[in-house]
Amino acid sequence: MPKMKQEERERRLQHKDKFHSDGHATAKEALACHREYELDFEIRFFEDKSTQKKCGVCDELTTGRASLGEFRRYVACPEHQTREGIMVLQEREDRRKETRA
Ligand SMILES: [Zn+2]
Ligand SMILES: [Zn+2]
Repeated sequence: MPKMKQEERERRLQHKDKFHSDGHATAKEALACHREYELDFEIRFFEDKSTQKKCGVCDELTTGRASLGEFRRYVACPEHQTREGIMVLQEREDRRKETRA
């Protein structure tokens, strides 16, 4: 992970809490900001060798997985086990939620 300046790190750590109040106009803004925090600090990549699943980005079968925070799990091939890949997966998840609502 690239080194972050100390003050930048501290600033982002203030965004640990999903409903942090640091002057965001809307809950949506605070959530977007919280996600930046998660992408910086809470992505984990791992493998589940027992099951091949389709990567959420490219549909390639893979044992690669990613987690974000405590609760979200994604399927991500080695190529998409990146910050950008996880952002794509989050956006798709959001869109699915919106169409369901
Ligand atoms: Zn914030
Ligand atoms: Zn992929």
